[in-house]
Amino acid sequence: MRALLRNYVGGAWVETGRTFANINPVNGAKVCDVSEADAATVARAVEAASRARDGDWGRMGDEERAALLRRVADRIEARFDDFLEAEVADTGKSYPQARTIDIPRGAANFRIFADLIKAYPNESYEMTTPDGAGALNYSIRRPLGVVAVIAPWNLPLLLLSWKVAPAMAAGNAVIAKPSEETPSTATLLAEVMDEVGVPAGAFNLVHGFGPDSAGEFLTRHPDVDAITFTGESRTGTAIMKAAAERVKPISFELGGKNPAVVFADCNLDAAIAGVARAVFTNCGQVCMCTERVYVERPIFDRFVRGLKEKAEALTLGRPADTGVDTGPLISAGHRDKVLSYYRLAVEEGATVVTGGGVPRFGDERDEGFFIQPTVWTGLSDEARVCREEIFGPVCHVAPFDTEEEAVRRANDTDYGLCASVWTQNLSRGHRVAKRITAGLVWVNSWFLRDLRTPFGGVKLSGIGREGGIHSLNFYSEPSNICIKL
Ligand code: NAD
Repeated sequence: MRALLRNYVGGAWVETGRTFANINPVNGAKVCDVSEADAATVARAVEAASRARDGDWGRMGDEERAALLRRVADRIEARFDDFLEAEVADTGKSYPQARTIDIPRGAANFRIFADLIKAYPNESYEMTTPDGAGALNYSIRRPLGVVAVIAPWNLPLLLLSWKVAPAMAAGNAVIAKPSEETPSTATLLAEVMDEVGVPAGAFNLVHGFGPDSAGEFLTRHPDVDAITFTGESRTGTAIMKAAAERVKPISFELGGKNPAVVFADCNLDAAIAGVARAVFTNCGQVCMCTERVYVERPIFDRFVRGLKEKAEALTLGRPADTGVDTGPLISAGHRDKVLSYYRLAVEEGATVVTGGGVPRFGDERDEGFFIQPTVWTGLSDEARVCREEIFGPVCHVAPFDTEEEAVRRANDTDYGLCASVWTQNLSRGHRVAKRITAGLVWVNSWFLRDLRTPFGGVKLSGIGREGGIHSLNFYSEPSNICIKL
């Protein structure tokens, strides 16, 4: 692993005078230093991207771009272990998770969008004209130009490449800004772009923070043509204000407060296992994680008992330990935030069914950012911990009596990213899924999705849809050409 991660601008590695530390959340130790891009470095990245857009990269045909992106996927796979080690060091997530989800999906994104761009259809319509000769309309799609990609830390390579790959497939020049918490795999991705011969400026990487740092320098830059962002809803608001100045296209994948609705006619064991996965995966740090659970009253006590058992059976540990289910939270700051919600829940009158604190190991992990998986009951839907996104391994479980009530309470939120419904009644599954206002509703499952389907949220959970052709729709714009015959 490198001692200093640098910015990648116009095909060259760039250091600035300023660095920040990349910290391993398992033990609080420094992984490496990172060169923070200043305003001048971000401006150089925008210039380089603009030149690429107007130069070789902009003139490259779909076939050639697709071939390059496939080489990116191949090269990530060839350097799989480098990516794996880097992702695990930055996030503390278990090797099995990074090995089966983060890195392979990160590589797959480049292959998927390389294939899709070649099959992307254009429209054409013939129309009649008063002189009887007619006219032919057809659309062509143009890239947006210079696209800023701003990513979070929870699935670093996967979520960055989920945007970089379609943006580049559609012909845009990209400036990627990974989270300051997880800069390593993005830097490896820049190395890969360099190694496979992506033209200078087509992919640029700037490191840094949000406000008054690389993130804001990028979103406020007048020559950035579009912004695609995954992160907190509050950050989305700040970026939207920056984008409003020049009415830039935006695509936002934001926070959630996702419900699970468990009916008495469900397969109880499957529902308990499914909801436990939805609450505790990646230490609760997946935007699709469940934080509100509504359970039909006849099975409420059994469900809570079952979820408590699942939570208490989770093994917290280091990425390389065998049988580890859950790693740490990403940072000391995030652990303090989640712990403040643990305290608030008690102040608001919650019954702590399990967890609620910080585990003690008696080894280096005590310097890391571990937290106990936690389950609460007994709060009203108005409690702050039932309304605000916590982004930790925690949920509140509440009983309900009717389907109508369950739907109303599931929808009583400022967010609308996803939901899960647990029932063996097929009609009810369809009916409730249709009535829940969220971008994605699972019936009897969670975190299952064909990558071609639309992904995104409603309300505070986002704007727009990405995934498959929906991504290409965002990263390119149609122009209509009308030929009088
Ligand atoms: P965050 O909003 O704090 O940061 C995300 C990125 O935005 C980082 O790269 C950060 O440096 C940058 N940033 C912060 N402020 C900025 C500003 N003012 N201008 C420009 N850039 C700025 O989010 P996070 O803590 O990294 O990630 C966790 C959040 O992401 C949670 O809310 C989670 O729900 C959400 N998330 C959503 C999805 C989704 O698909 N909907 C997926 C993953 C995570």
